[in-house]
Amino acid sequence: MNTDKIIIQINKRKDNPLRTIASAVKKNEFGTEELKNLVEGMQTSLAKEEDGVALAAPQIAISKRIFVISPKAYEENAKWKPLVFINPEIKKVSKKVQEMQEGCLSVRWIYGTTERHTSATVEAYDVMGNKFSFGASGLIAHIFQHEIDHLDGVLFIDHGYNLEEYKSEEEYKAKKGIN
Ligand SMILES: [Zn+2]
Repeated sequence: MNTDKIIIQINKRKDNPLRTIASAVKKNEFGTEELKNLVEGMQTSLAKEEDGVALAAPQIAISKRIFVISPKAYEENAKWKPLVFINPEIKKVSKKVQEMQEGCLSVRWIYGTTERHTSATVEAYDVMGNKFSFGASGLIAHIFQHEIDHLDGVLFIDHGYNLEEYKSEEEYKAKKGIN
């Protein structure tokens, strides 16, 4: 399966994977070459987007509950292994919310403001099916919320405000942290 696909854009079709609740990865899929290839394909697709910090499987038209985070998002914690989250669930969030600037690889070239919890803890599985828990604040917590929204067919433009459409790619790319 070639999963190194171009990132799909939102459109009005009802069957758009970006508007579908993605399926959980099944027990017998963990540890398989197919799942490993899919995750690698997602990491390759993400690496090609110079402003991209994270990617969910529905963004490459695979309706499965998986997202990956680019090392670009956590350079200061470089000891972390490549971050892959399968069947993620948010277990805890801070009461505190913060306005964030947000963009999406699947909603070019719009940028806007969203309110996100400042910290979040996610439980998920790695490709081998090992369960882990990951707590983070700042950009990583923000990414957790944006990506899990993707797995539920939600886009930041659904709840964001001050949405601005950029005319030029350069102007838009001056923004940071698109996921
Ligand atoms: Zn996105």
